[in-house]
Amino acid sequence: MVKIASPATTHYGPPIASHNGLKVQVCFQCGYKHLAPLPNPDTITRFYADPDGFYKDAEQMFRIDANHHHMGLWDPLYRWETTQLFTHLGPATRIIDLGAGTGWFVKWWADNIGRAVGVEPSPVARSNSPVPARLFPTLPESARKFAGGNPVYLRARLVLEHLVDPVGFLKEAVGIPQRVKGIIVTTPNEWNPLQDRIVKRDGVGNWFIDKTHINYFDKQGLGVVLREAGFEPLGWYATHPLELWQLAGFKYIGDDQKGQRVHLARLNLEKRLGRVAFGLYKILFDRLGWGREIICVAKLRDTI
Ligand SMILES: [Zn+2]
Repeated sequence: MVKIASPATTHYGPPIASHNGLKVQVCFQCGYKHLAPLPNPDTITRFYADPDGFYKDAEQMFRIDANHHHMGLWDPLYRWETTQLFTHLGPATRIIDLGAGTGWFVKWWADNIGRAVGVEPSPVARSNSPVPARLFPTLPESARKFAGGNPVYLRARLVLEHLVDPVGFLKEAVGIPQRVKGIIVTTPNEWNPLQDRIVKRDGVGNWFIDKTHINYFDKQGLGVVLREAGFEPLGWYATHPLELWQLAGFKYIGDDQKGQRVHLARLNLEKRLGRVAFGLYKILFDRLGWGREIICVAKLRDTI
């Protein structure tokens, strides 16, 4: 898809799918798929800062996640993400996690690599964090606390799909007073071949279309956002092809308990296989487009 104009003021393009009264369009103006119409940005900002918003009633989810972290089940992914940053962008010991949630990655980085802070608008997520003092509600506040002019990486995991203006968000992040080397971004990999097969054959419709899920990226659409924000993609990767479980008959879609078991199985697999798992995901993504999420490492142009 070719991006035609910026900033996007008029969104036009064919509708591609709908679910529960929500419609997704292929937007030629933005260069990626998103909800049509787009929600009001102020409504979205309030929703994420509201204790009754995105993380409402999430305490049980937080407890399960904390258990997984205490068991070291996320360490392989965090170690692998760090290796990709070092490999593509060279060494740096500081990182800002944009949309940090409860901040477990921030804690892991601070424990293992160097200095880390997170930006997280939700007071519920911040108050359930193992490192609440390292999380800040807004970007400027975290940048002031984190100043020093040292090289810094950015990380945005499962954030850009929730924003009305992902390009503007990234541009604000690179305007902080550090020397930004680059970013590692993770977003869902929408309408990948496995997901497409579930939509067409499993009777669950476009289950992933949701009012909090504004943008629907594939590799090309995410590349448009990153380039528009001033980044140059250097490496493309993917996470576990979760949809295989659904297609194999372990129907986790719409079943939270099964979903948790599938999630735990995936983490256990990565704990046992280590980097071999991520190498396998890379092959499946490159050859078949499989992978629940896309991961991209990108450098900020003209800075390194
Ligand atoms: Zn648009």
